[in-house]
This record gives sequence, C-alpha cells and structure tokens, in this order.
Amino acid sequence: KIKGLHFGSFYLTHSKPEDAALIYHDQTITYGDLHTTVEKYATCLHVSGIRAGDVVALSCYNTPEFIYSYLAITRLGAIVAPLNLTLTIDELTYILQDSGAKALFIHEKILGKLSASTEQLQAQFRLKEVLVIGEALTARVHTATAIEPPEINPKAIATLLYTSGTTGKPKGAMLSHENLIADTVACTDVLDLTSQDVFMCVLPMFHSFGFTTSVLLPLYAGSTIVIHETFHPKEIMHSLIAHHVSVFCGVPAMFVVLAQALKEGKVSFPSLRVAVSGGAALPVEILTLFSHQYNIPLMEGYGLTEASPVVCFNPLHGEKKPGSVGLPLTGVEVRIADEQGGNLETDQTGEILVRGLNVMQGYLNMPEATADTIVDGWLHTGDIGFIDSDGYVFIVDRKKDLIITRGLNVYPREIEEVLYKHPAVLEAAVIGMPDPVKGEIVKAFVVPKPGETLDRRTVLDFLKPQLAAYKMPRFVEIIDQLPKNAAGKILKKDLRKQ
Ligand code: ATP
Repeated sequence: KIKGLHFGSFYLTHSKPEDAALIYHDQTITYGDLHTTVEKYATCLHVSGIRAGDVVALSCYNTPEFIYSYLAITRLGAIVAPLNLTLTIDELTYILQDSGAKALFIHEKILGKLSASTEQLQAQFRLKEVLVIGEALTARVHTATAIEPPEINPKAIATLLYTSGTTGKPKGAMLSHENLIADTVACTDVLDLTSQDVFMCVLPMFHSFGFTTSVLLPLYAGSTIVIHETFHPKEIMHSLIAHHVSVFCGVPAMFVVLAQALKEGKVSFPSLRVAVSGGAALPVEILTLFSHQYNIPLMEGYGLTEASPVVCFNPLHGEKKPGSVGLPLTGVEVRIADEQGGNLETDQTGEILVRGLNVMQGYLNMPEATADTIVDGWLHTGDIGFIDSDGYVFIVDRKKDLIITRGLNVYPREIEEVLYKHPAVLEAAVIGMPDPVKGEIVKAFVVPKPGETLDRRTVLDFLKPQLAAYKMPRFVEIIDQLPKNAAGKILKKDLRKQ
C-alpha cells in the first residue's frame, strides 16, 4: 500500500477535491484548495532557492499554515524541521545550527516574541530566507504560479524531529517519507479510517504524536481535520459536538479532564466513534470509564519519535487489554531484550526493542548516539516492558524513571495506577529522590479533583494495603497541578528539580 507514496501526493489518495480537509475557526478548506495552496507555497520556497535535501525549519502554532508549509517543504524533496514552540532562544539557536537550516517559516506572533527582525535571523543563521507566516505571505502565495515539482524518492529524509533533550542535547531524529507513510497507513488500517471521519487535532503539530495521528492519518484517509491551537476543555468539548468529531487522539491528561466532565453528566459525545490515547501511560481507571461506562472505545497505543512514532495499538475490533499498549502495527516487530540485547521470554520484563519500516534513519550528526540506539536494525526505546502470551505489549515504565531504593526496583507507574483508584485523585506522578542511605526514595505528587481535599495521611493510608513497604512513598505532596510539556505530558524532570 505504501509503495510510491510520498508527501507530495499521499493526501490525494482517498480524498475528492470538494471534500473538506481542514476546519479552522470559521474557515473550511477543501482538499482541492489545500492542494493548490501547498503547490503555491512550494513555488515560494523554490523561488527562495530551496531545493531537494535542504532543511527548512518551521515554527508555527496549530494552523492550516503549519500544514501548508510542512507539505510544501516536503513536496520539494526538502526536509522539514518543526520547532517546539516552547524553545528558548538558546535551544532554537542550537537546532538551527545543528540542522544546517537554509530557510525558516515562522509565525508572525512567534517572531514578535523573539524580539529579533527577519534580517537579524537571516544574518545570524545564514538563512536564504525567513518566511513570516501572516498576511504578507498569504498575499505572496496567492500570486504564485505552481512549478513542476521534482520527483521524490520515498526513502529520502522528509522530517527532522528533535527530541526534547531530557538526557542531554536535543537529537534530530531523521524520518523518511517511507518511515512516516508506513506508520500512517498501518494506523489508518487499525482505526478503520474513512473519508467520512472527522478528526480533532489539538495535540501540537510540531510533535511526532500530534502530526502523525492528527494530521497525516486524516489526510491519508481523506478525512476532515478540526484544528485547535490548545486544549481549552470547554472549547474542545463544544467543538467535539459542533463538528461531529468521530476520532480524537490525545494524551492521558486530556482524557482525565474529559472523563471528569462525562462523569459529572455535563456532556456526551454521540459522534465520537473512537478515542486514542498515547504519549504516556493511560491510567486504567480512565480507560474503564470511557470504554465501559460511556461506550466510547478508548484505545491505548504506544510510540516514540524515533519510530514515526506509533509502534503498538490496541485493536479496534479485537480484545483491548487494559494496561496494555496493544499489538505491534502491521510491518512492525517488537521484542524484549536483556541488558546485553538477548531475547527474553514471554512475560519477562526487559527493554522494548522495535524493528520495521517506521524506524528512523538515525540521529543527524550523531553517529555514536545512532549506533547506540539502533543495533542490528533494532531500535532501543529506553522503555521497559513485557509481552504476554497473546502478543500484547505492556509498558512497565521508562528506564530513566525507574526508582532504585535499597537496591530494589520500584516502577513509578505501579504506584501511580493505585493512586488513580482513589476517588478524590485527579492526577498523580511518582518520582525518585536521591537519598544518601537508600540510593533513592519514593515521592508522590497528587492533584485532587476539583472540590475535593486530600492530605498526606489519607493518601498513605489508601496506599498501604495495596503496596509492598519498600514501594511506599516517603513523601507525599498535594499540589494544584502537575508540570506538563506542550504535548500535555507530565514533566517528571521538572518535578525532580523542585
Ligand atoms: P524525550 O524522549 O526526549 O524525553 P518525549 O517524551 O517528548 O521526550 P517522545 O518520543 O514524544 O519523546 O516520547 C516517547 C516516549 O513516551 C516513549 O519512549 C515512552 O516512554 C512514552 N510513551 C509513549 N506512549 C506511551 C504509553 N502508552 N504508555 C507509557 N509510555 C508511553
């Protein structure tokens, strides 16, 4: 199915020109308009001297312009490097230099916040052009005539996605057209997507999870994408109903909020045929509420940027195992390895390794990190898990979040799952804190539901009968909210810093 597909054409596979592609505020953009605009954006870039293989950075909110720019860059055979919107100027400098970007698309509001002119940016980063997303660019694009775009090699790099750099410098994961399209096509099959589907796109487009699941999937299927910049619960709930959204991909924190609203009987989402959770562990409590109580299949999946990103999914029609991230996608293999990379048996816990068409080509300019991460074609994910006798994959935790106390392994997720069972707990996160005697000790952060109160004693009394003594948190802190990144994932590194 993926043969010959690339970003220049894949979104024309299942769509008709008159079908709605994007809905943004009160604007509806058809597939025909999308195609014309992308070709014109590509002309502008071509006129700026951008050619196949050049890197073009993209700094933009969730807007139609993000999608036009992305598709136009890749249409020319150039490589798009989407930038995280929360980057500091130092991080931005690092990425622009490391990627060797030749041009930059930047939204006018983001440029305004940088307090640098386009000329300054152009000179500092030796860019051929800085294209400011705003009215002037729209006018320029309007008068552009389409050029004959080059042939694209599906194996060429399409995207350079920088990891958030929690363990050192950000690393640019190189993903080819084939990597991303293989992942897209496999996910489309799992979710039974059609051109009748309407997608909610609220995950950030600059992140692999958001772009693949909420932009590439619907574009390939010919579905409609309802674009929102951020997750404002009331606005999103209203939009889910108003636009008859049928598919919603989000992170667990979003489903925590929606589950609470459903529980209070404030809303219902009759058009929602499937919800997808990924990016972080989905508390089993939330899964059960959605799927059993409200009859909305909430499918948990698992992935990482380096795998384009989706690796596993719970099946839409087959058994969905609570606590599992499901079965590997078609064309993707998963195995569990010990410290030396040797195969572990069913139900044995070790590092999750992934192989398939979705695995990146490596990290840009980092041959050593690449060689450490991809060994004999197997991507080392840094996640710990096991596979059961039915082939379902379970994530135990991240290697770097594992707590070792008195030489014993404690997986934060296990404690968090118990905390989520408490009726007054909205969110929870568990970390290890350095301790001179025990190595590390366990600390839990707990956010109560609105209107509920909790204290340390209540939390500990609740945990005690359910956890072995060495897993019990030494410290419990009740807080109003947890720090989260732009994708809505809980930032444990910030909790550790606190
Ligand atoms: P970094 O890896 O640089 O810290 P990041 O978390 O933003 O940043 P991603 O590639 O977006 O990087 O995240 C991938 C990671 O998210 C996976 O390796 C895994 O630890 C976690 N993850 C994704 N889905 C799930 C899931 N369903 N359950 C548990 N963890 C998950």
